[in-house]
Amino acid sequence: MYLTQGLHRAVQQFPQRAVTVEDGRRRDYRTQMDRCARLAGALAGAGLVPGDRVAILALNGAVHWDYFPGLWWGGLVANPVNTRWSLKEMAYSLSDSGARVLLVDDAFLERIPELRRLCPGLQQVIHVGAAPTPAELTAYEPWLAAAEAVPDRRVGGDQLAVILYTGGTTGFPKGVMLSHSNLWSSAVGRLAETEVPSPFVTLMAVPLFHTAGLAKLVTQLIVGGTAVVEAGFRVDTVLADMAAERVTDVILVPSMIQMLIDHPTFADHDLSALEALTYGASPISQALLERAMAALPGARFMQSYGMTEASPVITVNPWWNHRGEALRNGRVRSAGRAGWGLEVRVVDPQGKELPPGTVGEVIARGDNVMLGYWNQPEQTAEVLRDGWLHTGDGGYMDEEGYLYIVDRLKDMIVSGGENVFCAEVENRLARHPAVASCAVIGVPHDQWGESVHAVVVLRPDSEVSEAALCDFCREELAGYKCPRSVEYRDSLPLSGAGKVLKNVLREPHWRGRDRRVS
Ligand code: ATP
Ligand code: MG
Repeated sequence: MYLTQGLHRAVQQFPQRAVTVEDGRRRDYRTQMDRCARLAGALAGAGLVPGDRVAILALNGAVHWDYFPGLWWGGLVANPVNTRWSLKEMAYSLSDSGARVLLVDDAFLERIPELRRLCPGLQQVIHVGAAPTPAELTAYEPWLAAAEAVPDRRVGGDQLAVILYTGGTTGFPKGVMLSHSNLWSSAVGRLAETEVPSPFVTLMAVPLFHTAGLAKLVTQLIVGGTAVVEAGFRVDTVLADMAAERVTDVILVPSMIQMLIDHPTFADHDLSALEALTYGASPISQALLERAMAALPGARFMQSYGMTEASPVITVNPWWNHRGEALRNGRVRSAGRAGWGLEVRVVDPQGKELPPGTVGEVIARGDNVMLGYWNQPEQTAEVLRDGWLHTGDGGYMDEEGYLYIVDRLKDMIVSGGENVFCAEVENRLARHPAVASCAVIGVPHDQWGESVHAVVVLRPDSEVSEAALCDFCREELAGYKCPRSVEYRDSLPLSGAGKVLKNVLREPHWRGRDRRVS
């Protein structure tokens, strides 16, 4: 298999169907395929050969549908750059991947002179935006129009398709090497789990430099669906587009779900076309999930747990576990069961499988597991052992193979010898009516090693004292799990993928001290 297959199929079956809708502009599949053939031709003309890396530094846009399938058409490797990175991180990624060509949009034009200086290997920079193109760059559309359309090389299988950087939630991002068959097996395994909305009109609001966005693009091409492309997560535009384009499918991280349903104009939009809402990428509080399901009663909710290293799906909890009995027996809180083509286990530090109900590290094996980290053989050897991907996530399974994620092992708090899983405490805090969002971290404690510290964002015009919040937790949680201290903030620091950056929250507390690393 190869990842451009879906394009060929779509052009044969529905050439006029929109592949992308961006600011109301539609592009059909036939046009898209021609643009991909030309992009591959233009890059071959620039001397690139299969296996060469091409980077993109651009907000989500229709150009990504030239970029990903167009590179695969020519057997090239996509290297999307996280748009939230600092210049230094961008330069690191471009030098590390050895990208020869960079596509850049208007938003990042001003960084180009410095990036070129820092990355001498960069041979050509192509401007894909609407602003006037600086003289030293290549203007994208004329360059594409002048190129010769070349046949699809149909490079696929175990060949490298992307170098995708991890979310950078726990530290410096790692370049994950994913092959065509890695991405294919994750997407197809996930599609097999539950009904595919028809028509498949998906909202692309998660960034395309992140595994969640890329996996959705791969899925959309396999299905032959339409992507409604959002340059960023502007809630009013997202709501308007979802209603106007009758979006049927969406993937959102919990922080985005919260922004959406809490927006003052949420109720003014007709989102009745929405059939499937997938959430994941970080823990969701039960309170938020329940509010979201009530706000979008027509949508089938589904949780997906995964990571960049698994292309990304590891487990899926389908919609039927979000209704009826599953709401009462707690199965709705599960991250789901192993996706098709995957084995998932929970093991102790020696790699021995643990019995149901016991917390350990989640490991996974399947065709979706990455080839390794780019240029990092030691880090690769640490996480890939005997074909098993060690996720660094703590969880337990029930008797029927349902996985419950409790925490990242690195985030877990060890207080007085007891393990505290942040998600459990966050879940309780999120139930308090004054709490809009929260994060729990471990802070140094002379006697216990670490103590539980809550960082809380209050709802507008709400108040709650530290003591009242701690008492609220104590009603349901064991004493050692309850926050010993509370800090109020206006917002939580989020990664490019919308995840809470606990390192950033921990940093002022741990400055100059060593924290245990699991
Ligand atoms: P980095 O590896 O650079 O620190 P990251 O781990 O956030 O960043 P990703 O690959 O985007 O990078 O995220 C994978 C991680 O996200 C998982 O290891 C897990 O901790 C978390 N995660 C993903 N899905 C879920 C989910 N459904 N519930 C809880 N946590 C999740
Ligand atoms: Mg990770």
